[in-house]
Order: sequence, then C-alpha cells, then structure tokens
Amino acid sequence: MNKVNKIAVLTSGGDSPGMNAAIRSVVRACAYYNIESVGIYRGYQGMIEGDFKELNARSVNNIINKGGTILKTARSEEFRTVEGRKKAFENLKKKNIDAFVVIGGDGSFTGAEIFNEEFNFPVIGIPGTIDNDIFGTNFTLGYDTALNTAVEAIDKIRDTASSHNRLFFVEVMGRDVGHIALNVGVGAGAEEILIPEEDLGLDRLLESLKKSRKSGKTSSIVVVAEGDKTGENVFELAKYVEENMPNYEVRVSVLGHMQRGGAPSCFDRVLASRMGVKAVEVLLEGKSNFMVGIHDNEITLTSLDLAIKGETKINTELIKVSDIMTT
Ligand code: ATP
Repeated sequence: MNKVNKIAVLTSGGDSPGMNAAIRSVVRACAYYNIESVGIYRGYQGMIEGDFKELNARSVNNIINKGGTILKTARSEEFRTVEGRKKAFENLKKKNIDAFVVIGGDGSFTGAEIFNEEFNFPVIGIPGTIDNDIFGTNFTLGYDTALNTAVEAIDKIRDTASSHNRLFFVEVMGRDVGHIALNVGVGAGAEEILIPEEDLGLDRLLESLKKSRKSGKTSSIVVVAEGDKTGENVFELAKYVEENMPNYEVRVSVLGHMQRGGAPSCFDRVLASRMGVKAVEVLLEGKSNFMVGIHDNEITLTSLDLAIKGETKINTELIKVSDIMTT
C-alpha cells in the first residue's frame, strides 16, 4: 500500500452524539502526524458529488461539546450502485485523498467494505450509532449520551406519573435491539421493560402490573423498545392495558428523536477522541478494513466484515437485575 498522506473523514447513516468529537479527533490526529485531512459533507452522497472541504486542527475548534455532525450525514442510494461508487473514487483521487474514515453504522461499513474491494482504497470505520448494536465494541458512539438523555426524560415523567397515580408507557429507540430499553429501564427504575429479544406476552405483562398494584405501587413506568413485539405498537399496548385495568390511568410517551440529540456525555467524548486517534494510526500503519472499537477499556480492531455480520447479545444478567428490582 502507498504511504497515506491525506485522510478524509465522513459521517454516514443516522447521526449520533459524539460524531463531532470523532471528526475533531481524526483531524487533530492527522495534524499531529503531519498529514492532511479533508471533511466530506453528507456522507457517501457528498463523496459522489465532490462536496469536500480541507480541514486543519483549527477547523474543529469548539465542536467536541456539540451534538449532531458538522459534516452533516445522509443516506445515499447512488453509493449502492457501481457507477455511484466510481464517481466517488474519481473525486477522492482528484483531491489526492489516500484513505477515509467513516463514522456510522453497519450499513456505512458495508458501503466502505465494498468500496475497498472495488478500488483497493484504504478504509477504517468508527461505530457511530445510539443503538449499540454493532459487533466488536462494547460501546458505540452516542449510546451513553442517549441512555442519559432517556433516563433524564423518564425521571421527569415519573414525577407526573406518581402525582396522578398513572401508568406510563415510554417508548425508547431500538427497532431491532433492546440495549437502550434495558439499560434505561434499569436506570430509571421501570416496572417492566419490553424489548424485541424477548416476547413477554400481553398476559404476563398484565399479570405483572396487577401484582405490582397489589403490592402497593400506585404508579408505574413501563419502558418499551420501538421494536418490541408484545403489542402491535406502544399505543395498542397501552389501550389493551387500560381496557383490562380500568383503575389505572394509562398514558403514552414516545421519546423519539430527542434521544439522538444533545451534547455528548463525557464518556462519548473520550471514546470518540480515542477512536479517532486509533483510526488515523491504523491507516498510517498501512492497515485497512477494520472497525475501531472498545473492549474492557482497551481500544481494539475488528474486521469490518465481522463488525457487519456479527450480532450483539442482550445482557441477560441485566434482565435478571431488572426482574429483582421490580419485586
Ligand atoms: P444507522 O445505524 O443509523 O442505520 P447505517 O450506517 O447502518 O447507520 P444505512 O442507511 O444502513 O445506515 O447506511 C448508510 C449508507 O451506507 C447508505 O445510505 C449507503 O449509501 C451506504 N450503504 C449501505 N449499504 C450499502 C451497500 N450494500 N452497498 C453500498 N453502499 C451501502
């Protein structure tokens, strides 16, 4: 592989808090190692359209604390085509870019892997998604912030729930995985946690809520992951419970996109800073097709292939803790 003199950085797929801190880290690491850096706007679509900007250490001042991504993000259908990727490659070559770091989820990594295969172009991935659903890392960028945002919101909901003896169903993000729901549920002291990995069933849900009522609880919070299969959706679930427990006033709160925004937590800022440095160092060592991750507080590398294909597992110990906490 030729020497890497210029690295591009882009954010792709859904945004997550900590992406800016990772961009800053990549750019500052490039400056530290005396190589050039370029920002690509709007993910792979910007790569195809040549929407690039030269960056230097000062271009990333005052962004470590900002949510979202200064480079914007996008989903690009055109990048899924050979013609689209060819345009992207030509733009990178025109700007003398030797490698890129993509901050995104498994879709973004798939695009990077295919691009590397076609053009032998060095790529490194940094996992940026609030869902924590990427194999090869204990934590993805933005997950910790999203947990804190959701817990803070539920703490507020709890105040009103207990004042009115209400039962609140709070939907959190997680279409395919329940990591956010499970951790937020335990952290916010939820009565029940409904996740896609486990189908509790409507009967057991009712039974559990009735039991907690009998034990003297007058208000409850049920945390529901978006992808939970107990009910058709959180509103249907709430309706069913209200019909079967007429003494309870049932309310629904969907936290939605607020979970993606806000200033990144200290944990996410530190993680982003470590991952960005590692991504640049790995490229300078002549490696490619890895995702930077963290395991037992050590920064690690996992092949992009494994990161894409592997599945994260729900923490069963945490499920048990949650059950014990609702006694
Ligand atoms: P999130 O976790 O937020 O969904 P993601 O990175 O998985 O993030 P995707 O929309 O799946 O988000 O992928 C982002 C972009 O990566 C796509 O818009 C597309 O440009 C590119 N991409 C995804 N899959 C492929 C593929 N099979 N071939 C080429 N490019 C792809």
